[in-house]
Amino acid sequence: ILLLLLAGCATTNKVTNTNGIDKLQADGEKVYVGFALDTLKESRWYRDKENVENKVKELGGNIKTLAANGNQDVQIEQVKLLINEGIDILIIVPSDSKTASKAVQLAHDAGVKVIAYDRLIMDAPLDYYISFDNEKVGEMQAQITLDQVSEGNIAYIGGSKADNNALFFREGAMNVLQPLIDSGDIKLVYDKYTENWSKEIAEKNLRVFLNNNNISIDGIIAANDTLAGAAVNVIGQNTDIPISGQDAELSAIHRILAGTQTGTVYKPIDTLANQAATLAMDIANGNTISTETTTNNGSKDVPSILLEPVRINRNNIEETIIESGHFTKEEVYQ
Ligand code: BGC
Repeated sequence: ILLLLLAGCATTNKVTNTNGIDKLQADGEKVYVGFALDTLKESRWYRDKENVENKVKELGGNIKTLAANGNQDVQIEQVKLLINEGIDILIIVPSDSKTASKAVQLAHDAGVKVIAYDRLIMDAPLDYYISFDNEKVGEMQAQITLDQVSEGNIAYIGGSKADNNALFFREGAMNVLQPLIDSGDIKLVYDKYTENWSKEIAEKNLRVFLNNNNISIDGIIAANDTLAGAAVNVIGQNTDIPISGQDAELSAIHRILAGTQTGTVYKPIDTLANQAATLAMDIANGNTISTETTTNNGSKDVPSILLEPVRINRNNIEETIIESGHFTKEEVYQ
């Protein structure tokens, strides 16, 4: 028993953080990364989780991932827990882009740097931001639909307003839409954000709108594939109304092949995850960091890495989704 106790002591380091709070660190030698996810609802987040975890381990670190089930208060509690466990660096997908500034403050108080992953944190002295060019994602989403309808009534189904990405996506879509609205070719008859990116809420909102208004819709721009799925559910399978999306979810790829969804925007998640994990390990190891660009979050120009999204339609699935290993041929054509 004594030996076992001693062995237990050898692998557990008690360290004191800058708050003076005692914390337990599983392995004092290894870098310990905390990964705070907002949600695991969309399938992409499982992939983010798996890839970030694998890369951190491959680079010699330890990692713990927690997901907040879309609840900003839960996320703050999870961040506290990770900090008290002694993380050296925090990677976070904020549940709420504004209130997550609290997470940055808590981390900084404990001497922990913060990387915002995929979603920006606003009005906070955030250390790094790694994501995609999200305005471009929005432009691509609008273009997918507008390549099929050059005039008529358009519906915009936006994401969660608490997610800064949803604002970027809409801004990008408006870059493409506005000139056509100004010329009178396009009417934006429906334009709504969707709380929590919820499929159910999106369906309900669109149904209520269509029931209350005697209006036809000629094209739909949906901020992600979940919302595209909601649109398909509402307008039915047998329609040629173009619908866009985002994430290249397998269900969306199947809809694109079946002709119920027109296209999606594919974001190479594996690259995002690998680069984020590498960045985290470099920061924790005190290596020099170089980033290509900055993003202003209302508080500072945050050093940023922004990857390129890819537009998908039924004709380029092979050379994009399949070739990159996002999905196998069997999964796509099952
Ligand atoms: C991400 C999307 C995702 C959505 C809902 C956004 O911030 O960029 O890829 O579909 O959140 O989780």
